[in-house]
Amino acid sequence: MPETLIIGGGPAGSAAAITLAQAGMRPQLIERHRTAPAGVCGGFLGWDAIAGLEELGVDPWKLGARPITRFRLATAKRCIEASLPATAAGISRRTLDDALIEAAGHAGALVSRGRTVRAIDPDTRTVRFDNGQDSAADAVFISVGKHELRGVGRDFSSSSIGLRTTLPPSHILHDALEGMVELHLFDRGYAGLLLQEDGSANLCLSVSRERLTEAGSVPALIDQLRQEAPLLKARLQGASSRFDAVAGVPYGWRASVTHKGIFRTGDQSAVIASLAGDGIAIALASGTSAARAMLTGGPDAAPAWQRAWRRQCGMPVGIAEALRHGAAAPLSRSLLMTVLKCAPALGTGAAAFTRIRRV
Ligand SMILES: Cc1cc2nc3c(=O)[nH]c(=O)nc-3n(C[C@H](O)[C@H](O)[C@H](O)COP(=O)(O)OP(=O)(O)OC[C@H]3O[C@@H](n4cnc5c(N)ncnc54)[C@H](O)[C@@H]3O)c2cc1C
Repeated sequence: MPETLIIGGGPAGSAAAITLAQAGMRPQLIERHRTAPAGVCGGFLGWDAIAGLEELGVDPWKLGARPITRFRLATAKRCIEASLPATAAGISRRTLDDALIEAAGHAGALVSRGRTVRAIDPDTRTVRFDNGQDSAADAVFISVGKHELRGVGRDFSSSSIGLRTTLPPSHILHDALEGMVELHLFDRGYAGLLLQEDGSANLCLSVSRERLTEAGSVPALIDQLRQEAPLLKARLQGASSRFDAVAGVPYGWRASVTHKGIFRTGDQSAVIASLAGDGIAIALASGTSAARAMLTGGPDAAPAWQRAWRRQCGMPVGIAEALRHGAAAPLSRSLLMTVLKCAPALGTGAAAFTRIRRV
């Protein structure tokens, strides 16, 4: 049985670990955090992500996920609402990631939490841990998500910054967001809001570095947005100035090549614009699909699987990129809102076309 190491216990790494363990393997899952952090994420689970979780034996509704059936798009001057093509959900990454890692352990994976991999030599599949120890494996899953791993870094430069904070539960947020995901579009970015399992709201933003630099700081940016958009101002009453952040998010990037025995999954395989809310679904589907390829073809199956996965992600990632660029610029944003006002069903269609096809 090939010795398999999975680096990163986000949705991609856990999905791979569960799939391999359920087939009788004993993969080792390495996660640097002892308990899952809130992370920079909007917490939106599309219907494809929900199906992916259920297939892995993780029921998001039992974890307290809040159903979402509609979306609201708002700009400074306009607001439209429409139905989603199917029921989605809102959940905190803390709850989701812990549940997935726990499921991997129950399935039989060897889970090491609080351990970091510092670097990998992809030719020999040898990893170096934070304590200086080296370990070689037959197959390695690179599932480190938004982070880079020395030896297999993504070659991409991006000025997109992701931010996230939690808004405490309130009647205003509950009434506005029950059953809803809300996206506020502004120049060179957007803010997303939804309710989490404990009634608090997750607020995430994606913004260009230039816009943030011009504002001067995150609190100054939030103040600017409050002044620009009255609806967003109403939502941000209780917003603190403490945000988690991630810089250089490589939206639109897709891995094209890999080495034998090296499977790149999740954000290390393809990065869909966060506006589409499909990164978790891609992470789950890629982890599951890569693990199946490994089970049928062994470690040598990695390069062919990686090329096939790149093709499979092409359409949702491409459409999401077009929407991201369209929403970020004033003219195209105004046109987008005009079109959606006349035909909200197009928004429902766009939500459907940015989903990953599961096989
Ligand atoms: C602003 C923003 C909002 C978003 N909103 C949504 C949304 O609403 N819905 C959605 O579906 N997607 C959303 N996404 C995308 C989504 O967050 C990612 O696509 C998804 O988390 C990718 O999962 P992953 O498992 O590949 O990586 P991650 O979730 O990043 O997990 C990687 C794991 O690897 C661990 N790790 C990293 N380096 C090491 C190391 N060296 N050693 C050991 N462990 C390591 C990390 O601690 C982490 O647990 C958003 C992204 C951004 C930037």
